[in-house]
Amino acid sequence: MLARPMRTDLLACPEDHTALREDGDLLRCEHGHEWPVRDGAPVFTAAVGGFERRAEWERKQENSVPEYEQEEADQQARRGTMAWTVGRLFGEFWSQPVGDAAKVLDVGCSVYAELPYRRPAERFVGVDPLPGSPAREYEFVQAFGERLPFAAGTFDVALLATSLDHVADPLAVLRECARAAPRVAIWIGIIEPGLDFGVLEALARVPREPLYRPRAAAAAARTLYALNAAPKDYADELHLHRFELIQMRELVAAAGLALERQMLITDYSQTTPHLFLDATR
Ligand SMILES: [Zn+2]
Repeated sequence: MLARPMRTDLLACPEDHTALREDGDLLRCEHGHEWPVRDGAPVFTAAVGGFERRAEWERKQENSVPEYEQEEADQQARRGTMAWTVGRLFGEFWSQPVGDAAKVLDVGCSVYAELPYRRPAERFVGVDPLPGSPAREYEFVQAFGERLPFAAGTFDVALLATSLDHVADPLAVLRECARAAPRVAIWIGIIEPGLDFGVLEALARVPREPLYRPRAAAAAARTLYALNAAPKDYADELHLHRFELIQMRELVAAAGLALERQMLITDYSQTTPHLFLDATR
């Protein structure tokens, strides 16, 4: 199946934000920058060359692929996850102030054909550096969030759904979102201050039983012992960043955005609470 073709009317050159015209299998700007179109999706990833931590970024993207492929192959299991449920909530969160006739940009839309947080919209355009599923249910552009191929103010809202901790330069991505849209809605897993991510992971493995039961108490003791013995340089093989709530609020402010709404979601079954932020410029 071919990708749902991206209409080119919203696109602009990622180098200079001037208009693009179609020329065979290329999109061309007035300054002579050329961008290919593959399977109906414009490809702008060449606009970002070498960047800090590029090798690490590529390795972590590759690490994610088996999980992405497994989830894409088993849609029913994906719909049963906590992340899917939180994604539905994020859909309600971002769409509430903009309604169902908005132009929506989803930065780091992932590789999936279907997104739990997608809602009715005039346009719903996903951007990701990975080509992903050929059967996406929304318009798709292959590009980096640090260099978006759109003119200023093209969209009503830009979404960052569990993507800001996977990018090389979170502040640059936030600034690009704020350039492309007057409103930015963020969904991200955060770390709790004072709690090491490895501690959260280990505690999540302790059975959810009252500690006065001998087996639960023994499991908790074993976990605490293992934690004490484990090296404290827990390395995350999927994310480039882990943010605390206060750091997220600082990033939003640094991008010139003012926070309008904040929601924190946790049922303590996850190692990281989910944070929704809604900010305007
Ligand atoms: Zn150009």
